[in-house]
Amino acid sequence: MKILCIGRNYRDHATELGNAVPTEPVVFCKPDSAILQPRLPFVIPSWSQDIHHEVEWVVRIGRVGKFIEPEFAWSYVDAMTVGLDFTARDLQNQLKSKGLPWEKSKGFDGSAVLGTWIKGPIEPGNFDISLHKNGQEVQAGNTADFIFPLEQLIAHVSQYFTLKTGDLLFTGTPAGVGPISAGDELEAKLDGKSLLRLRIR
Ligand code: ZN
Repeated sequence: MKILCIGRNYRDHATELGNAVPTEPVVFCKPDSAILQPRLPFVIPSWSQDIHHEVEWVVRIGRVGKFIEPEFAWSYVDAMTVGLDFTARDLQNQLKSKGLPWEKSKGFDGSAVLGTWIKGPIEPGNFDISLHKNGQEVQAGNTADFIFPLEQLIAHVSQYFTLKTGDLLFTGTPAGVGPISAGDELEAKLDGKSLLRLRIR
């Protein structure tokens, strides 16, 4: 199983980090060991002083596909949820400034957190996602504001990576990313429904 992730898929988030709005999807991967086991807290790794939360709409792939046409993309989705793409922003900035790959800052243990799955078939549509930190909303977005809609994301990534049953696609984060600290409580919602709660240690 692999985890494909999209960077900079909301204009407001691309610009908040001073990045250009991309002309094609920004794609990176996390290993399967990045998935935080259910009900465990997230432990801030000792080597980072600046872990950021990124709430994202996550879809699960239900069948094998390659070179998928945009019009058939939704039929490859068999479940959806909200997730967190934890990012060691200090390390990512160091790596980016040297032109090096991001993996260590994005794919470390526990960096992929998943909410409860809503099982499909998923009808094409747009979905609200939000993140509350200690009871206060810090991120909110709607998939209608994607720079690249799901159809284009699946068509694009499947030109490079064969999609397999159980693969996950993190679709990018809206504005409002920020640091977490030990003791924080995070709650992520999909269309107002709470699907993920997480304690930070
Ligand atoms: Zn992300």
